[in-house]
Amino acid sequence: GVRLEATNKIVLDLEKLYDTTSEDLAYVARYARAIQQQRGDYNGRVLSIRADDLRALAIVYDISPSGLIERLTEQGVLVADPRAFFAS
Ligand code: C2E
Ligand code: C2E
Ligand code: C2E
Repeated sequence: GVRLEATNKIVLDLEKLYDTTSEDLAYVARYARAIQQQRGDYNGRVLSIRADDLRALAIVYDISPSGLIERLTEQGVLVADPRAFFAS
């Protein structure tokens, strides 16, 4: 399996994720909304998600966790560095 470094946080760009028309990301968007709800984290432009939750989502898509990361990167909904993201 794939090991994600603790420093390699998975951070979603919510604006891009929720704006995207890609049917492919519908489950990711729904999952992100559920996490926001559970945390009461409604106002963020980004959302850090658990590595465990990425693994669960990868199962839904029937790909590996790294494959899902690749797909999210291709669709431009991952934030590589949230601090740089807010500085730009
Ligand atoms: P919980 O898992 O019992 O976590 C309780 C609280 O511990 C969380 O409250 C949060 O303040 C903190 N916490 C737990 N794990 C982490 C972590 O990895 N990083 C950080 N920064 N804090 C952590 P919160 O955020 O209000 O969440 C309430 C409950 O909602 C959580 O209870 C959990 O059951 C669920 N939840 C929230 N976010 C997620 C998520 O991303 N994935 C999953 N599976 N459940 C989540
Ligand atoms: P970072 O993890 O690089 O996050 C940078 C900024 O991205 C955060 O600034 C916040 O504005 C945004 N961000 C990242 N993840 C989330 C998210 O899940 N929800 C929302 N609403 N915003 C998010 P902020 O809050 O000023 O935090 C600055 C730094 O402080 C973070 O850098 C991180 O290193 C640390 N930090 C903040 N909250 C937590 C936390 O709950 N757990 C841990 N371990 N570190 C935290
Ligand atoms: P992780 O589980 O992969 O979570 C990655 C990031 O997602 C966390 O980074 C945090 O920004 C966000 N996150 C995950 N779960 C929650 C949650 O329930 N509530 C909120 N508000 N944010 C959440 P962070 O905080 O820097 O934590 C890094 C790693 O440290 C986590 O990776 C996890 O492995 C561990 N960790 C941190 N806090 C807790 C905790 O309360 N319980 C457990 N079991 N592990 C924790």
